[in-house]
Amino acid sequence: DAKNCGRNTFSYYTAQMNQCAQRRLAIEEQIHGALNRNEFSVFYQVKTNLSNGKIMGAEALLRWNNPALGNVPPDEFIAIAEQTGNIIQLGKFVLEQSLKQTALWHKEYQQDFQIAVNLSPRQFRDPQLVQFIDDTLKANNVHASNLELEITEGVLLSGYNYVESMLNSITQMGVKMAMDDFGTGYSSLSYLRTYPFDVIKIDRSFINEIATAEKDRALINAIISMSHALNLKVVAEGIETEEQCQYLRKVNCDLGQGYLFSKPISAQAMTKLLDSTFQINK
Ligand code: C2E
Ligand code: MG
Ligand code: MG
Ligand code: MG
Repeated sequence: DAKNCGRNTFSYYTAQMNQCAQRRLAIEEQIHGALNRNEFSVFYQVKTNLSNGKIMGAEALLRWNNPALGNVPPDEFIAIAEQTGNIIQLGKFVLEQSLKQTALWHKEYQQDFQIAVNLSPRQFRDPQLVQFIDDTLKANNVHASNLELEITEGVLLSGYNYVESMLNSITQMGVKMAMDDFGTGYSSLSYLRTYPFDVIKIDRSFINEIATAEKDRALINAIISMSHALNLKVVAEGIETEEQCQYLRKVNCDLGQGYLFSKPISAQAMTKLLDSTFQINK
């Protein structure tokens, strides 16, 4: 299966390499034109304020359903879309869809609903990115402070000197920047020093074993203290159990995201969720 691609052991090297190459080829072939065939959609996963349990926003996550390949997970197709260049169009689609949707949710439920969108390295090499973000915010009448862009170290690793100036332009607009998958990279700390982040998302791998791994708890505590000292908000990713949630609340983690609250769901399902949560105010 696709998860084994790149993790071959010598004994079945050839057969598996072949399989991976074929899968890759099929994805490359199918991703071409998939946007025009309406195969992509944007799902949303809620972010919850851990101190009061209220929904404060959501992360937009791209979904691809292809007639030949079925549901292809983003962990598989995003990297390929990066290489083919399709990510530029896909990224625009996600931003447009999610801001359009957010404008509706603002009107209907919650004026300060925060939408988070993932950006990948190639999008940062698009000289029109900053203008596109600004235009799309304005077209949908969404305030910049309600948009958060999640990037991983990969964006910063690209090392181009204009990354810093792009990040500065984005934050000067009032858009927030989040460092995604924090703790999995090589030099996350030096990036926090250099770039204007507002939010840190602790990677799911630290949350998984909160109950049993003392080291993970120590690291989580340290990340939260450090973040708060730097005036950064902390989101914990991948919260699946009540126990994990309680621990994170105890150590003052600001926000939580994970299957415990909700899986990523369609815009329609998200609207229903907001409806049942906010009907009291209507
Ligand atoms: P990410 O940005 O770190 O997103 C979080 C991933 O964790 C999502 O996977 C989400 O479904 C999953 N997740 C959330 N809560 C839980 C949980 O409690 N347990 C477990 N096991 N998983 C949980 P997803 O949607 O498959 O996306 C994977 C990655 O693909 C994302 O990681 C992001 O890096 C990338 N991606 C997704 N959509 C986009 C997009 O629109 N643009 C870009 N550039 N990348 C995207
Ligand atoms: Mg993310
Ligand atoms: Mg993440
Ligand atoms: Mg990730």
